[in-house]
Amino acid sequence: MNRIELTRIPFIKNVLKSRYPQLAVFIVMLIGYIFAILAGLIGTPVGSHNFSIVFVWIAWWAILILVAVPFFGRGWCAVCPIPLPGEWLQRGAVLSPPDKRPKWLNLRVPKMFRNIWLQNISFLLLALFSSVLLTTPNITGIVLAAMLFAAIGLSTVFERRAFCRYLCPVGGFIGLYSQTAPIELRIKDKQVCVTCEGKPCYNGSPVGYGCPWDVFPGGLTKNTYCGLCMECIRTCPHDNIAVNLRHFSADLAKPSTRMDEAFKAFIMLGSAIIYAGVLLGPWGAFKDAAYNVGSSSWFIYATVFLTIIFVVLPGLFTLGILNTKNIIPLKQRFASLSTALIPLGLMFWVAFSLSFVLTNASYILAALSDPLGLGWNLFGTANATWQPMLTSILAPAQTLALVGGLIWSARTAQKAAGEVKVSPIPVIVYCLLATSLMLWLLL
Ligand code: SF4
Ligand code: SF4
Ligand code: SF4
Repeated sequence: MNRIELTRIPFIKNVLKSRYPQLAVFIVMLIGYIFAILAGLIGTPVGSHNFSIVFVWIAWWAILILVAVPFFGRGWCAVCPIPLPGEWLQRGAVLSPPDKRPKWLNLRVPKMFRNIWLQNISFLLLALFSSVLLTTPNITGIVLAAMLFAAIGLSTVFERRAFCRYLCPVGGFIGLYSQTAPIELRIKDKQVCVTCEGKPCYNGSPVGYGCPWDVFPGGLTKNTYCGLCMECIRTCPHDNIAVNLRHFSADLAKPSTRMDEAFKAFIMLGSAIIYAGVLLGPWGAFKDAAYNVGSSSWFIYATVFLTIIFVVLPGLFTLGILNTKNIIPLKQRFASLSTALIPLGLMFWVAFSLSFVLTNASYILAALSDPLGLGWNLFGTANATWQPMLTSILAPAQTLALVGGLIWSARTAQKAAGEVKVSPIPVIVYCLLATSLMLWLLL
C-alpha cells in the first residue's frame, strides 16, 4: 500500500495545525489525571471500586494496548497530560511562544543518558511491583503523582521533554511498538529541508516551538521517538510535514542496531509471558510471591523475573543466531534480528490484556457512578455487578492474536535476516516456541 497523506484533507490539517483542539483534549486529560491521583490517595482502598485502579489499569490500559498503540502508534503521547504542566512552565506559555521565555537551566541531557536504558529500568521497576500497583489505589495515586512531578522537575532542569524521551516507563514501549502502527509523521520532500534556513521545526520560531522530543523532523525514518505533538506542522514555514496512512510495521523493514532498543523488545516479550503465567496461571504460589512485596519469596520472584528477561530469553536467542562464519558482528545481528520480536511482543500483550480487560471491564460501570467508593450513584450504575465479558470469544480472539503475531514476526524476521545476511529460521523457531508457551499459559 502506498502512503496516503491524511494532511491533504483540509479538515484534518486545520485541526492538527490549530493549538485549540489539542488544548481542549489536554485539559480534559489533565483533569482526569489529577482526579485519578486524588481518587488513589483519598478514595476507597478497595481497588475494584476506585477510579484510579479501574480507569487507569483497566480502561486506559485497554484503550492503549488494544487500540491506541496498534493503530495510532504514539497517538496516546499526542494527548497525554503527564508532560503538560512541566512543558507549560518551561515555555512560560500554554499556547504560542511568548515574547519573553522564562530562564530555566535548559541543560542538554548528558550523552550517557540519551538512550532508553532508563526507560527500560523504570518499566521493570513498575513491572516488579505491578501486583501491588494494580490493586492498591494509594500506590497508583503516588506513582501517577511521581510521574507528574518528575516530568515537571526535569522540564525545569533539562531542555525539551527529557522525561518523555528518556525516563517515562510507558513511553519506552509505546515508542517500540509505534513502529508497527499504520500512521506516521514524515517530511514530504527532503530537498526542501536541505535548503531550509534555520530549521525552525527543530530550533523553534516565533510561531512555534522546536521539536519537544529533540527530533529533527527532516531526518525522521521511524516512529519511535516522534511524540506526534504536531508542533513541527505548526512551525514548518514550507508546509513540508505530512501525517500519512501507511501499511502496518513499515518501520520494521529497516531493523534497529541499538542494544537498548533490542533489550526493550526482550523486556516486553518476557514481561508478557511472566504476567500471563503469574497473574492468570493456576500457580497460587507464584501469585503470592508477586504480591508479597519485600518478602523473601518476592525477592526470589524478582530474581527469576530479571533472569528470564536478561539471561534466559536473550541467551536462547543468541544461541540460535550464533554463526561463526558470518562476518557481521554478533551484537549487530542480535540487535537487528530482535526486531522480529516487536510484532510478537505486541500481540502477546494484546492477548494477555484481552484476558485481563474482559474479566475486569464490568468494574468500569460501578466506578463511573461511584469513583471514590463513597457510596455515590452518579449515573445509576454504582451497583452494577461484576461479571466477565465476552467469555465465548476470549479464547478464539487470543489464539488469533498469537498466531497472527507469529506470522507477522516471521515475516519481519525474514526482512531483518536479509539485512544481516543470515537465515531467518532460528528466529522463526524461537518465535514459534515463545508463541506455543504463551498459548499454553493463556488457553
Ligand atoms: S512518553 Fe510518557 S509521559 Fe510522555 S507523552 Fe508519552 S506516555 Fe506521556
Ligand atoms: S522547517 Fe520544514 S522544511 Fe525546514 S527543515 Fe524543518 S521540516 Fe524541513
Ligand atoms: S515536533 Fe514533529 S517530529 Fe517532533 S515530536 Fe512533535 S510531531 Fe514529532
